Amino acid sequence: MKASSSKRRLYSVSHRRLAIFAGLAIIVVISFFVLSLWKKPPSPPSRSTESPTNPSDERYYFADSKYQGIRSKFVTRNSTKQKVSIEYPITGIKSIDMLASKTIDQADEDFTQAVKAGSSISEPMTETIGYQVSYNSAQHLSLIISIKQNTHGAHPASLRYFWTFDKKSGKPITLRELVGGSDASVAKVLALAQKSAKKALAEVEKPDAAVDDSIDETVLQNFVVNSSTTIGWPFGQGMVLASSQGEIELSVSVNELVAELQNPLAKSLFTVPDPPKPKPVPVPSTPITPAPRTGASCPGGRCVAITFDDGPGAHTMRLLDILDQRGAKATFFVIGSKVDAQAGVLRRMQTSGHQIGNHTWSHPSLTRLSLAGIRQEIGDTNAAIQRAIGYTPKIVRPPYGATSQTVNTELGRLGMSSVLWSVDTRDWADRNSSIVCSRAVANARPGAIILLHDIHVTSVNAIPCILDALSRQGYGFVTIDMLLGNTVPGQVYYGR
Ligand code: ZN
Repeated sequence: MKASSSKRRLYSVSHRRLAIFAGLAIIVVISFFVLSLWKKPPSPPSRSTESPTNPSDERYYFADSKYQGIRSKFVTRNSTKQKVSIEYPITGIKSIDMLASKTIDQADEDFTQAVKAGSSISEPMTETIGYQVSYNSAQHLSLIISIKQNTHGAHPASLRYFWTFDKKSGKPITLRELVGGSDASVAKVLALAQKSAKKALAEVEKPDAAVDDSIDETVLQNFVVNSSTTIGWPFGQGMVLASSQGEIELSVSVNELVAELQNPLAKSLFTVPDPPKPKPVPVPSTPITPAPRTGASCPGGRCVAITFDDGPGAHTMRLLDILDQRGAKATFFVIGSKVDAQAGVLRRMQTSGHQIGNHTWSHPSLTRLSLAGIRQEIGDTNAAIQRAIGYTPKIVRPPYGATSQTVNTELGRLGMSSVLWSVDTRDWADRNSSIVCSRAVANARPGAIILLHDIHVTSVNAIPCILDALSRQGYGFVTIDMLLGNTVPGQVYYGR
């Protein structure tokens, strides 16, 4: 009994010691483990091969390019997976350089993703990016970026991006700006470009592409100066037509757009022939008696003069219907070169009691012309208006609102006054009737001159809204003569 009890005690003592020892050992092991984690975080197993984007593969250097005033940054990456050569243009014009490098970097990022995803093919994937300058003057630059990538896909990719920049603003010039802003002119370029595409496709015996669907204004928005007489769109593969059609280069001859390119911007980029001389139109045999100007009401002197530039256009007749229905009078500053063909529209303006002013023959900036040039632009237009309606205008709206003391003095000699505006609806920029209406209404004041363009359908569609809103505010709608009375030659007017 005694022996058995001491045996039991011995057993229980050694058991307790074992438990304490084991507990201590566990604590020590855990603290070593925690300590080791804290000192040296675990790292993933290191890769045996270099990552495709390893910067150590990349080399770069700068050099002059073959183009005046432009340097290049060359970047190369060479590894078993990729062979890359990139030439970035550096023009020194920040927004141009940023757009070019953004375009290149996006394509390069796609390529890098393809390299990362690519299996271990023995041949490296290749990418070559470069640029070309097809036109480089003091004011303008045509730039083409070419991107060729072979990622062992079905088709090696060949992309091209191109622009013609205004160096002063650093912004690309749009097709619409090039042709002076009218829908009709843009439509004419579209038709010619589609013809050019069909011809190009026929030449490579691939006539089934849906050319008319794929070539629209957005696609043609950027262009390059190919030569002094050719507008170009050097599209890459799959950028307009299906990839299988390959690269496609569209071009339109300046000679096919003589009327559309009679503006200072187009003339500074291309050699534009003079417009054909207008055929003289016989003076109407029955003299037109202008409607009396006393009919319009100007309650409490609360009037505005709504003015329309750049017409007559395709929507002008409908505009006259709208104005006449509401008894509103307006002033039309017409383009001289459009007058002979649309003399009937001017006669309708005249008989309805609207006023007609001179907006030059070909819409140049008068400040850039010689005195003889100013006299010709104004004189030819006055003569055309005289032929159409038997009346010579006394007011000019200088294109772009561009005036100078020299211009004013010369206009004064010709007996003309300049009429600018106090409310610019910017209807050429925002082709949205409700925006145009809001701007006109929000900025109208008694005596204001409101600027619109009757060549834009959105502007004509904004007129009912403008007339309704301003009528509710008690405004009357009068011509410039009714608003300003007798204008003084050589003076510039912005409103009353
Ligand atoms: Zn204009």
